Amino acid sequence: MNDQLLTEEELLIRNTMRDYADNNLSERAARYDETGEFPWDNVSELADLGVLGLTIDEDFGGSGGTTRQLALVSEEIARGCVATSVIYIAHLSLTSQYINTFGDEYQKQKYLPDLATGKKIGAFALTEPGAGSDAAAIQTSSVRANGHYVINGTKTYISNAPEAGVMVTLATRDKSEGYKGIDALIVDGDLDGIEVNQLHGKMGVRASTVGEIVFNNCHVPVHNRLGEESVGFRQTMEVLNASRISIAAQCVGIAQAALEESVQYARTREVFGGPLGDLQAIQWMIADMATETEAARQLVMSVASKRDAGVPFLTEASMAKLFASRVAMQAAHNAVQIHGGAGYFAPTKVERLFRDARVTEIYEGTSEVQRMLIARNILKQ
Ligand SMILES: Cc1cc2nc3c(=O)[nH]c(=O)nc-3n(C[C@H](O)[C@H](O)[C@H](O)COP(=O)(O)OP(=O)(O)OC[C@H]3O[C@@H](n4cnc5c(N)ncnc54)[C@H](O)[C@@H]3O)c2cc1C
Repeated sequence: MNDQLLTEEELLIRNTMRDYADNNLSERAARYDETGEFPWDNVSELADLGVLGLTIDEDFGGSGGTTRQLALVSEEIARGCVATSVIYIAHLSLTSQYINTFGDEYQKQKYLPDLATGKKIGAFALTEPGAGSDAAAIQTSSVRANGHYVINGTKTYISNAPEAGVMVTLATRDKSEGYKGIDALIVDGDLDGIEVNQLHGKMGVRASTVGEIVFNNCHVPVHNRLGEESVGFRQTMEVLNASRISIAAQCVGIAQAALEESVQYARTREVFGGPLGDLQAIQWMIADMATETEAARQLVMSVASKRDAGVPFLTEASMAKLFASRVAMQAAHNAVQIHGGAGYFAPTKVERLFRDARVTEIYEGTSEVQRMLIARNILKQ
């Protein structure tokens, strides 16, 4: 993105986050990838930088920022440490943003200040062992009794679950009503009847912890329901649609990091008596990576601008996520190729980026689901 096309505030945020990514996140990323530990220092520094509540209303401890700002920040965090960007997006773009958009005054006062300052980590629990792409098929049940919903069921692959103090959870009150029977509930992480089992063995984004959540007669107060009964699924689709812009920005960060690593290596690695970068085969890969990364960035900023302007953006958000995840994957692939054998070994950054990039084609709606949404929206016009 051309600096001249950013506002002064956007430029300041972007540059601050770029320096932070270069000087802090990048330095630690290999170690966190190796240990798989949750990067508490990164998260608390993001809170200190004021970006953990970036798009949360100022009245509730946030910065009242824009979607464009969130895209710039997500790109830079991912450029430094992809796992930290997953934590960030699940926390802010899904969980906090859900409460910010659909919560009532009580819910916002109670939960958002702690989320915006990182006192509590947020998780967004939709996926279940039997329901991923087909999200309306969730089986986690909620039965209303004595001012509470009693929740039973299992969620899986939930980012931040092992650390979460606040979980926005989807449960079905009435399976016969299909998606209209689904409600969104704010669940405090320390309630009785919740067991979180961390899932191990992820291919990439290893420092972004993921868990299974088992609800066993967990009592959630009725006043923790987000929105009216029956609108939980519709609200969730709205939150996911917007959050895809953050994921697409994350993909741009991955592609940019892969490009930067490749350029640096091509300048310094000597082959056949000269730098690798003198070879046309390498130049073409770098040219493709640079072009596709910039195209993905333009798509992200264009859809972010649409959302900020209140213009319809749903199809474009899916396009951005579909395209940018493919660009991230291809850039990471090229980067490993440019590094040759070195790129196949940890702890080269490109080896990690290659593993980290893969999940972007899967979570927050797989590439197949994005194509389905894009085609459906185009065909019904
Ligand atoms: C690291 C990680 C973190 C995650 N974090 C979260 C989180 O924080 N919260 C949360 O709720 N979930 C989370 N998820 C879950 C993620 O959103 C789901 O894995 C994803 O939506 C796909 O669902 P599934 O795994 O059940 O695959 P399935 O839905 O079983 O799909 C399997 C394959 O079939 C394809 N497919 C399915 N339906 C169709 C169709 N109609 N047309 C064409 N192809 C189709 C899919 O694209 C995919 O290729 C996370 C997943 C991972 C891997």
